[in-house]
Amino acid sequence: MTKGDRKNIWDVGGSPSGGAKSCAGNFGWSVQPRRVKSSSRNLIEDLIVSGCGFLTSTAVAYASHFMSKEWDFAPYTWMVNWILPAGALFCGFVAAIGYWIGARIYHHRPSKMLLANIVLISCTTFFAIHHLDYSEARVNGMRLQDRMSFTDYLVAVTESMSYKSSRSSSDDSPTELGKLGWGVALLQIVGFSLGGFGVYGMLVAVPYCERCSKYLSEKQSRTAKWKDVELLREAFAKLVQILGEGRLQDALDAHAGMGNRGRFGGVATLTMELRKCPACENRRLRLVGHHQKGNKHTSFGPIDIPTEEPLRMS
Ligand SMILES: [Zn+2]
Repeated sequence: MTKGDRKNIWDVGGSPSGGAKSCAGNFGWSVQPRRVKSSSRNLIEDLIVSGCGFLTSTAVAYASHFMSKEWDFAPYTWMVNWILPAGALFCGFVAAIGYWIGARIYHHRPSKMLLANIVLISCTTFFAIHHLDYSEARVNGMRLQDRMSFTDYLVAVTESMSYKSSRSSSDDSPTELGKLGWGVALLQIVGFSLGGFGVYGMLVAVPYCERCSKYLSEKQSRTAKWKDVELLREAFAKLVQILGEGRLQDALDAHAGMGNRGRFGGVATLTMELRKCPACENRRLRLVGHHQKGNKHTSFGPIDIPTEEPLRMS
């Protein structure tokens, strides 16, 4: 998004954070009392959502342990270009996905505490996988845990880590990492944490009804496509003008007739998205455009308009 684009957004209607008066004129924004959940209900929801996260992280730990034991392949160890812990990112993400499911079902808002919880559980999954391997390992028929502590096991596993390139032949022996194994282990822990952080980011991105404390989960959207960015620019300016006049349904109708109906999609897109609270008439209309040429990306908007007007998307 360019600086100029951002200025345009607020020129047509004002920022929602600018107060009820400035927004009510054009965009139908109104101040609504926020329904505050009771602390006991919050606590119960916290526990249920945490339970969902615990279930998926446990499932990832057991699945990873099983694959390592049966197939000699631990997905969380997969690295791209020796530096990007793609497997750990993926496993951390899946481990934390239970939080997303629980939070969406119970309309639980992502808080700083939830973020800490998610990242913690994602990291813990990394150690849980190692602990499962440790608790089942046997040496000469003896249980490994009777011969060494978990901490000593982690040190031994980390310093004896070896990696093999996917391009190398089956005859090539893997590279022993030695002390460098600590760097790889650190990258894996960071990967697990970032995977969990990604789940938190997904929750934060879903708009929320302040009045009912529910996600705006009823969603409709339409995307108009062109091959020429100038056509996108013109369409965006036209819709911004209509929205600025407070004619939200007219903007939706105008957008419905925009775009080329070619067989192949264009590189310039303009999307109208309408989200609604499942419990009340609160809606959010979003207009956002995007153009890509080579590696250059240009964004238009997003423009978000809260409204209670009963809009239809044709
Ligand atoms: Zn609502």
